[in-house]
Amino acid sequence: MAPFIPLEESFPDIREGVRSLCAQFSGEYWREKDQKRAYPAEFVVALTAAGYLAALIPEKYGGSGLPISAAVAILEEIHRSGCNGAACHAQMYIMGTVLRHGSEEQKQRYLPGIASGELRLQAFGVTEPNTGSDTTQLKTMAVRSDDSYVVNGQKIWTSRAEYSDLLLLLARTTPLDEVKSRRHGLSVFLVEMNKVEGLEIRPIRTMINHATTELFFSDMHIPIDSLIGQEGEGFSYILDGMNAERILIGSESIGDSRFFIDRATAYAKEREIFGRPIGQNQGVQFPIARSHASMEAAHLMVCKAAALFDAGIPCGPEANMAKLLAGDAAWEAADMCMQTFGGFGFAEEYDIERKFRESRLYQIAPISTNMILGYIGQHVLGLPRSY
Ligand SMILES: Cc1cc2nc3c(=O)[nH]c(=O)nc-3n(C[C@H](O)[C@H](O)[C@H](O)COP(=O)(O)OP(=O)(O)OC[C@H]3O[C@@H](n4cnc5c(N)ncnc54)[C@H](O)[C@@H]3O)c2cc1C
Repeated sequence: MAPFIPLEESFPDIREGVRSLCAQFSGEYWREKDQKRAYPAEFVVALTAAGYLAALIPEKYGGSGLPISAAVAILEEIHRSGCNGAACHAQMYIMGTVLRHGSEEQKQRYLPGIASGELRLQAFGVTEPNTGSDTTQLKTMAVRSDDSYVVNGQKIWTSRAEYSDLLLLLARTTPLDEVKSRRHGLSVFLVEMNKVEGLEIRPIRTMINHATTELFFSDMHIPIDSLIGQEGEGFSYILDGMNAERILIGSESIGDSRFFIDRATAYAKEREIFGRPIGQNQGVQFPIARSHASMEAAHLMVCKAAALFDAGIPCGPEANMAKLLAGDAAWEAADMCMQTFGGFGFAEEYDIERKFRESRLYQIAPISTNMILGYIGQHVLGLPRSY
């Protein structure tokens, strides 16, 4: 059976609910947070209270057990409205590692608290300063002692660590030169950050308001039962979660594209120069139209990937292409919108420059465009491995 492709207005009740929640968080709210690089805690609390961040958690653990297509609708609407899901989106996809690979005891211990908002699982520690995209080379070690693992090393770009109770950490448990393949010997841990010693969190100020940090581990002891699944199999668990991550980030980029297209269209109709609306000029109108077409095409790929994912059908190529195409569409729309607004695009009060900066991230994180192209080249087209 062909996968069902949801339309733009799939999950209308959810979309309407998200829109009305987002309407309470105006551009002014986001601009103030952006200027101070402050965490949008009120927005996160409101999303949690409305149950949106627990959309993918099964009902038996206190969530709503919705398909990923519903989470796509939630994140797309957040971004279309000018808000930013990056303050809390990680919870939606990193929770999946606990759900798929955690023990029943771990699921009972953490998932209901995550669903209710009592526990925040927002931090995902993978990237390291010296190994970057080459994840299998990461250097942070977790060495097993009698009653704990002792963690030493460093992470970078661990976003939201200061606003999270839990950290999903990828660390090496067997040295690289002792494993048969570089994909083995890495393990995933769920760390209760407020219960450990030997963890230092240093914020990094960036061009966007992203609450990102560096983490330093010095003899950080974590209980043995922090381990998720089997020791040494963590890399494959992280890979299992990548499709959801790609699809959800893709949906945020679709939302960003719609934000830029909505704003540019409205402005091009209203702004009159040389005695006519600027949108009457093909030089202004056509980039908006092209952007719309790019966004719609990327949106189809996001919907296809989500439909395959929900049907339990492998969707690596589609999830990667969805993230690639949606990220590109958002950046094209951002540039188009900036051009349509002319000088006013630079004024903070229009929110174009803020969204312009925010939408740029998705060419680089959580995976950079080149890595996706390498994946398509190798795994879809059978070209020689390039990295
Ligand atoms: C704001 C922000 C938030 C982030 N949040 C998180 C987070 O919460 N958790 C986390 O673990 N990480 C996070 N990251 C890290 C992010 O996932 C990485 O920045 C990203 O994966 C790229 O790694 P890198 O920056 O080390 O780049 P590098 O790996 O150093 O790459 C630099 C450039 O070279 C290119 N390149 C490298 N090797 C090749 C190759 N073989 N072929 C072609 N091109 C290549 C890359 O595509 C990239 O453009 C975040 C990053 C940012 C900026």
